[in-house]
Amino acid sequence: MSTVRLHDKTFTLYLTKQQIEEAVNTVAQRLNKDLKGKKPIFLVVLNGAFLFAADVIRQFEGDCEVCFVKLSSYSGTLTTTHVREIMGLDMEVKNRLVVVVEDIIDTGITMDNMQKKLIGLGAREVKIATLLFKPGAFRKKFKIDYIGIEIPNDFIVGYGLDYDGLGRNLPDIYKIIKESHAQ
Ligand code: 5GP
Ligand code: MG
Repeated sequence: MSTVRLHDKTFTLYLTKQQIEEAVNTVAQRLNKDLKGKKPIFLVVLNGAFLFAADVIRQFEGDCEVCFVKLSSYSGTLTTTHVREIMGLDMEVKNRLVVVVEDIIDTGITMDNMQKKLIGLGAREVKIATLLFKPGAFRKKFKIDYIGIEIPNDFIVGYGLDYDGLGRNLPDIYKIIKESHAQ
């Protein structure tokens, strides 16, 4: 399938499941090497990160704990810059190493808020693991510890990421085809 139609928009194949798998494996190997014996908490940011988190955490070889928060900042294909917390953190993070697992870092606003919140709650160290990163959209300065793939500033769907609720089940990642308004 080289294009998919979701609601009113068309998307073209951008990253195959093999490319995604390679990026996930590289992140997993680095996490195993860096976090050996450290018993991290993997904090998964729902909804978008659910597949990445499952694939990367499954490969973690040491003891770890897993918890979830649910945040929302996108409306359609546009970021709102306002992050809504739909499901909060229910685990004690005081003095713990927390690895936030994200699908994609765009402006960085979501992760900036999350990192500050975790430090405020007494986390000893916060690391960030994201499958995708859009350097062209990034407006913050924090360090991103683990990046799977850097991508241009286009709206994408698949492998957990949605367009208004659809597309999360696609095994590959697709990018939006910009519609020309010329008649
Ligand atoms: P940020 O706060 O870094 O601007 O955005 C973070 C969140 O916006 C991501 O976790 C993701 O849920 C959503 N997002 C950013 N870019 C995209 C994109 O291209 N496609 C989709 N589906 N969601 C995105
Ligand atoms: Mg996300």
